[in-house]
Amino acid sequence: MWPPCSWRCTSSTSCSGSGIPAMVDPTSVFLAPPLPGLDTRRVTADMLWHALEGPLQSPWLTVEDVGRSAQDRPLRTITFGEGSTGLLLWSQMHGDEATATRALADLVGFFATREEVDLHRRLRQHLRITMLLMLNPDGAQAHQRETADGIDINRDAVRLASPEARALAAVRERLQPAFGFNLHDQDVRRRAGPDGDQVAFSFLAPPVDIHDTWAPVRARARQLVATMAAAALDALPNRVARWSEEYEPRAFGECFQRAGTSTVLIETGALRDDPDKERLRTHLAALLLTSFDRLADGSWEQTDPAVYTGLPLNRPVLHDLHLTGGTAVVGGRETQADVALLFDDPVAHQAPRLAELGDLGQATALERFDCTGRWVVIEPLDKRSPGVVAPEDRVHIEIRKDGPEGPIAAEY
Ligand SMILES: [Zn+2]
Repeated sequence: MWPPCSWRCTSSTSCSGSGIPAMVDPTSVFLAPPLPGLDTRRVTADMLWHALEGPLQSPWLTVEDVGRSAQDRPLRTITFGEGSTGLLLWSQMHGDEATATRALADLVGFFATREEVDLHRRLRQHLRITMLLMLNPDGAQAHQRETADGIDINRDAVRLASPEARALAAVRERLQPAFGFNLHDQDVRRRAGPDGDQVAFSFLAPPVDIHDTWAPVRARARQLVATMAAAALDALPNRVARWSEEYEPRAFGECFQRAGTSTVLIETGALRDDPDKERLRTHLAALLLTSFDRLADGSWEQTDPAVYTGLPLNRPVLHDLHLTGGTAVVGGRETQADVALLFDDPVAHQAPRLAELGDLGQATALERFDCTGRWVVIEPLDKRSPGVVAPEDRVHIEIRKDGPEGPIAAEY
């Protein structure tokens, strides 16, 4: 799964083919183990600050209150390093997008405890890394995208109506960081280009104007994002994409880019068999650590920017799963029909609903199973009308061999 070359790559040629060595290996001694207590997709402020109680005693870290949320929860930054290059990272501005918060917490654990490793020393000498780990704690508590007042913080960068947006803008204004990292989780029903796999990470160097100008501040962001994309592609080929470059003047990425902080957007997607995004959390921590290392040693400037511009676009798909070529069975009746499913929880593949049944034509899905020679037995769970199914019905699916009553090969 991981590139054969670890962070301590000794090869004279690059491991990735993109001009930079491969990603920091999160299984190596350079990364502290994931912090306990943050192993679910839903993370609240109480969970986060409880998990960080120990690490925040470290003399390597500075904690600062930078505001209060609408419901009076603390907004805090954690800073590591005394170098000349300032970095500002913020996560969970959308309350139900916690993967990056968990990855940043793991980095806090690394910064707190691993002063003996070279990477730690290099980062603290060259960089000053400020992290605002949970910008929307009220949304996190309610498990919703918006603030308690219903504001989407990423459309509030100009008006600054919410206390959360004001806090983030004030931190950037005061610190004037060279680089900004805007960290999110994206809709998991995306794949990398028309033929790629489900997207694990997508990246954007946000535009500074409607004309898609490559101003120097944005060109630096492109260089950084290319560095990260190259590392991500090494670990997760066919699962890295480019986010839409449509100009959104109200978003923080665009706003900070205009203000002179080279800002990158990183969106975490999903991986099959990673229901709590624990693997992606570790990938993201390694990816961020890799980018810090490249910024500290200057090698980020050698990356070919085409690594970013050549990424396939983040493409939406219609369905989660297609079961094709089989015999659909509803109420004991058999039809030659493909079956399209949408899961209520598409990350964990739980609670399927029927999306479409019949000839699926050009419809797209994240996954497709060939059920030729199998029977796809569809049991409606809503009992609306016995023996009848329709799109959006909750269903139980059994894929059977040798006949509609045969042994079960798989079920959902
Ligand atoms: Zn988001």
